[in-house]
Amino acid sequence: MTEIYPREMIVDESLPNSDQFAVTAVSGRVGRGVRANIRFERGTRVARFAGVLSNTVFQHSLQVSPETHLHDPYFVGLLSHSCAPNCVLDMQRLEILALRDIGPGDLLTVDYAVTEDTLYRQFPCNCGSSGCRRWITGRREAVNEAGKAYLAGLEAKKVRSMVPPRARRSAR
Ligand SMILES: [Zn+2]
Repeated sequence: MTEIYPREMIVDESLPNSDQFAVTAVSGRVGRGVRANIRFERGTRVARFAGVLSNTVFQHSLQVSPETHLHDPYFVGLLSHSCAPNCVLDMQRLEILALRDIGPGDLLTVDYAVTEDTLYRQFPCNCGSSGCRRWITGRREAVNEAGKAYLAGLEAKKVRSMVPPRARRSAR
């Protein structure tokens, strides 16, 4: 067993270790993610986390208050986004809680818009949930120009696929 955090960040034994979690590359996604190695029951604490407080938004930071962000590039800052996540963060207690039963191999996911007013970077989402928002922003920011273009492109594709093939041919 090894600790996931570097030694200087370990405040006590309740922080995550490699028996519980694996930090891995995630296929089809940019960057790394965190997978469970063991089971976690819905409603229970999955892990505690740590980090360095800052007033800057980083790629791997999470918002604690409007002015304060916890920077953690080792564990919680690597959690993947889903519009129907299996985890939620308690940013006061610095804990991850399970919203669903989680099994070995499952990717831990959170909804970034739950904690973040403004994202480090807005991005397209293809998480596969029925309520997928397709483009992810912070909870207090509008879809940016790249997002508008992306969503308009998806809409155009949808309209095209709704037209029956025959009508499409004769329309040319
Ligand atoms: Zn999504």
